[in-house]
Amino acid sequence: MAYARDGAGLHRFTDAADGETYLAVHAGLDNAQRVFAAFDQPDLKAAITATVVAPRSWTVLGNGVARPAGPFVAADRARWELAATPPISSYLFTIVAGPYHSAGGEHRGIPFGLYSRRSLAGVLDRDADEILAITRACFDRYLEIFAEPYPFDSYDQAFVPELEAGAVENPGCVTFRDEFLFTSPGTQAERQFRGMVIAHEMAHMWFGDLVTMAWWNDVWLSESFATYMGFQVLSEATGFTGAWADFALARKPHGYDADQRPSTHPVAPGPAEVPDTDAALSSYDDISYAKGAAALRQLVAWTGWPAFIAGINDYLSRHRFGSATLDDLLDCLSRASGADLHAWAARWLRTSGVDTLAVRQDGRPAGPGLVAHAGGRPHQVWIGVYDRAPGDAAELVVRARFPVTVQADAGEVALPPAAVEPPPALLLPNDGDVSYCKVRFDPRSWAALTSGLGRLPDPLSRAVAWNAARDLVRDGELPARRYLGLMAAHLPAETDAAIAGAVLGFARRTIADRYLPRPQRGAALADLFGLCETLLGRAAGEDPGGIRQVAGHGLIDSASRPDDVAMLRSWLGAGRWPGRPDLDSRLRWQIVLRLAVLGAVGRAEIEREAGQDPTAAGQHSAARCRAALPGLDAKQSAWTQMFGPDVADEPSSYQLAATAEGFWQADQADLVAGYVPRYFPALADVAVRRGPAVARVLVKHGFPHHAVAAATLRAAEQGQAGAPFPASLRRLLADQLDDLRRALNVSSASG
Ligand SMILES: [Zn+2]
Repeated sequence: MAYARDGAGLHRFTDAADGETYLAVHAGLDNAQRVFAAFDQPDLKAAITATVVAPRSWTVLGNGVARPAGPFVAADRARWELAATPPISSYLFTIVAGPYHSAGGEHRGIPFGLYSRRSLAGVLDRDADEILAITRACFDRYLEIFAEPYPFDSYDQAFVPELEAGAVENPGCVTFRDEFLFTSPGTQAERQFRGMVIAHEMAHMWFGDLVTMAWWNDVWLSESFATYMGFQVLSEATGFTGAWADFALARKPHGYDADQRPSTHPVAPGPAEVPDTDAALSSYDDISYAKGAAALRQLVAWTGWPAFIAGINDYLSRHRFGSATLDDLLDCLSRASGADLHAWAARWLRTSGVDTLAVRQDGRPAGPGLVAHAGGRPHQVWIGVYDRAPGDAAELVVRARFPVTVQADAGEVALPPAAVEPPPALLLPNDGDVSYCKVRFDPRSWAALTSGLGRLPDPLSRAVAWNAARDLVRDGELPARRYLGLMAAHLPAETDAAIAGAVLGFARRTIADRYLPRPQRGAALADLFGLCETLLGRAAGEDPGGIRQVAGHGLIDSASRPDDVAMLRSWLGAGRWPGRPDLDSRLRWQIVLRLAVLGAVGRAEIEREAGQDPTAAGQHSAARCRAALPGLDAKQSAWTQMFGPDVADEPSSYQLAATAEGFWQADQADLVAGYVPRYFPALADVAVRRGPAVARVLVKHGFPHHAVAAATLRAAEQGQAGAPFPASLRRLLADQLDDLRRALNVSSASG
């Protein structure tokens, strides 16, 4: 079989930094057959053995422990034998080989190695203690939770180059994309996210690997469970106690967005709806991860944690080293909880769309307080009741949180009298974010939030409020400018980096670039720049959560005026910035990109920067910057790489994605206007000539997001009609179009 360059099968990568070669197998979903003859059906499990012949100086890893097996094949080659696995599915097979650097050792008698390519050795060594501490703590917690012992003979974690997925749960040998080894010290939010991914993949060792879905329609179950457990176990077992706020802000909005697009689908599709692996690939989406995990969190609110875990353990022991279905799991959970959960699942997992919970109060003493329910799902929620603090009307203090059960078909639920007597300033539906729903406010509550959102004491309450504001903007019920006003009022005092990052990101990428009429964009960028400057000005001692790092990234991306450019140039020249002592390569590239977009650096400076950073990440960054330069030559050259005729050496998908990301810039709308109508026919052409994988990269990373205009929509609709796209590509494009329609609605209402 040939080596792969697209991440599917046995991927081969040569490190630009030192010329070393690295291999890793990614067998999911149906790519094991690109490495050896295999059935690609998840319930056909087998013990797998492998023998590897490779350069003597290499490290070889796999699902089973690899042992050198003499004699040497040749002077410079050696042979390894990988221990036979227990029965596993073919999509979970891996081999990792190359001159890998390693750290780690053993835990509880099991190999616990960490691996990176040599050019990232310094980064791995810097972060190894943290990664290993998280790994050990989560492992010990899972051993407490699960009755089944750890099922495999090792727990290696390899950070491999150019992995398409974020990480893959290969039994005994998890692979991570090596961007998780942050070349600059990661922000708090990035390190927390990495910790969650570690905990997520580890949950799969039991749920997914020990017991596997019988067919691809239950991909969601494996991913929802691992996502739920990843956040839960990380917050229980490590210092990342804010993990659920991160879920609320960084993951759940994607679930809500996906659930309101035409392509939405029930969390749990039937087997006939997922006929093949191409359809299954589409299941690795925000419904499966974000909504599915939120649904499981809500399920635990109904069953309680002990019954939930008892049901899970029953399921794992009944089906160990085999496969099972959602009904098998519901049977186990129903027995353990004493409640028939099939009816709950029919409402939550077999239907699509988002319910809405709205609070109402009329403000009269002893007047009624209500939760109005639109939708068909049952909810266990908390309603937060807040009063204005005496002496400081902007401060909101919690009176109580009332548990409320909303039955599936209930239209209204009355709140207890203590919740509305005396009338509170704010009723916050779904306080604590335990359910998955839209929330809406009565005018009195919204007024209290407008003045006091930032003063809600619990980050999860603030997360619910910020998500509600985002949702109101997307639904055209709150002008986009008002969101910027909320941000200006409440972010300067924010202490949670996940909240600051989510709010700044939505304001910058969605509101400024897509929702505001173009004439208002410059003022919005200037406001964002000023706000980030304020946050960056905090004393180090006042910033335990890492807000300054988030603000620094936001500031760079919002620079637009000559003075802003001068500030970035001075940082680049000095090699220092206020957020951290050293300007490392990642930050340097972020600044160079912004300066390139604004035409404040040229090709020569990009090449000089690339010369100082020969890593793969540096090469990708340079490609992004070249494509972002505001000249017709630069645009035409990037366009040729994206859509040009077949090239003998197809760029890696990372390289292609970087070029595509650089190409379209809202700041250059006039310059790239002529390319927008050409994008759609070119995409259809590429899908035929260079394959759907290349076309998917160009839709994910190369869609003209900034071009919010009716003409773009018309061109897209024409380009899509009749194009020979496979289902997964058609859906990616349809989702982009739906976002474009929404942006058109919001921006025309904001004009
Ligand atoms: Zn997963």
